[in-house]
Amino acid sequence: CGIVAVLGNQPAEPVILAALRRLEYRGYDSSGIATLENSVIDRRRAAGKLDNLASILEQHPLSGHVGIGHTRWATHGAPTENNAHPHATQQVAVVHNGIIENYETLRQELVNLGQDFNSETDSEVIVQLVDYYLKQGKAPKEAAFAALQRLEGAYAIAMIFAGDDNIMIGARHGAPLVVGYGEDEMYLGSDSLAVAPMTRKIAYMPDGVWTVLSRKGAEFFDMDGNTVECQVQTTALMA
Ligand code: GLU
Repeated sequence: CGIVAVLGNQPAEPVILAALRRLEYRGYDSSGIATLENSVIDRRRAAGKLDNLASILEQHPLSGHVGIGHTRWATHGAPTENNAHPHATQQVAVVHNGIIENYETLRQELVNLGQDFNSETDSEVIVQLVDYYLKQGKAPKEAAFAALQRLEGAYAIAMIFAGDDNIMIGARHGAPLVVGYGEDEMYLGSDSLAVAPMTRKIAYMPDGVWTVLSRKGAEFFDMDGNTVECQVQTTALMA
């Protein structure tokens, strides 16, 4: 339902939590945040209100400057902590808005290939696909592209990778995603409100486009892998 992601130079957890609160108006049933702590993925998730997530984070804070957050509106799988996003393996963590229509086929294929599923969601096929391609020796960008080419349905996605603190990948197909440009920081959000306090420089991603972020900027590609130009706009100041 709501996505925010930070590839930054400051503690990511408070920035992401504050952004998720701005997305509460969209409605949700659970939430979660994952960060890279010394290049290792760690995450906290909670069913119910963001206050539940906030109190878990108070007791068990997440460090790290790179992270992704999500408010979930369950479509596949009950609104439990275990089905809350981010979904993750040791190598990759993903948040997803929308519905992956061919998840049953992909899930069966990935189980047959030895991937271990941990939730009842359609979304988990994304992280398991990327994880599989990473194990095959692909770099994060190539693994993400290979996974995206297998997905059918509607999605906005943000993903981060263990062992790589300078890359974040986003994709949109039938669900909105914006890229925010900061000072040596980059952001992803499911709408401009998500990233509004961090930056006024925003690129509204065209549909069917995915992006590779570093702290220096963003590259955009279509689903054939061709480079796409994407205009950066300066939005009006928001209250
Ligand atoms: N279909 C996904 C799920 O049920 C994502 C739902 C959403 O957009 O929040 O987990």
